[in-house]
Amino acid sequence: MQVQNEMKLQMESRSVNEAYARVAVSAFAASLDPTVEELNDIKTAVSEAVTNCIVHAYKNAVGKIYITVKIFENGEVQITVRDRGCGIADIKKAREPLFTTLGGDRAGLGFSVMESFCDRIFVRSAVGKGTTVTLRKRIRGKGAGVDA
Ligand code: ATP
Ligand code: MG
Repeated sequence: MQVQNEMKLQMESRSVNEAYARVAVSAFAASLDPTVEELNDIKTAVSEAVTNCIVHAYKNAVGKIYITVKIFENGEVQITVRDRGCGIADIKKAREPLFTTLGGDRAGLGFSVMESFCDRIFVRSAVGKGTTVTLRKRIRGKGAGVDA
């Protein structure tokens, strides 16, 4: 599938930057004329992926978060959130609902939320090297449903 538009963002893993990432990605995806619901889905999924970089990948440290957004000709948006943090030892386990390595205020639901708000998610990780989370969502847009 042909890429129609692309952008890249890089930021430090500070919690103040989570809102910026979420808004910047959704503003870029706005060119697809998404519904408010679709835009909110993207914001929520990005927020979970970026928060994971901040609280897990670079726990007790500050590192870089790299975000790439691609818009495809078929109206699909692909968001890649990458860190060079601690990595995930067991991805299958990490993706299970309620699994968390941080107790307290973490519910272990971030990956489940990303899955339910996107069409597909892919996770690649290497311990000590970092993690890449890829989120894919087809934007049907405000026109969807009119002719359906
Ligand atoms: P919640 O998202 O509900 O606050 P959580 O972050 O623990 O809780 P998930 O987002 O589902 O839950 O992540 C599950 C687990 O996967 C985390 O507890 C952490 O161990 C690991 N993890 C997720 N993202 C990363 C990452 N970028 N780097 C390292 N570990 C990660
Ligand atoms: Mg999380």
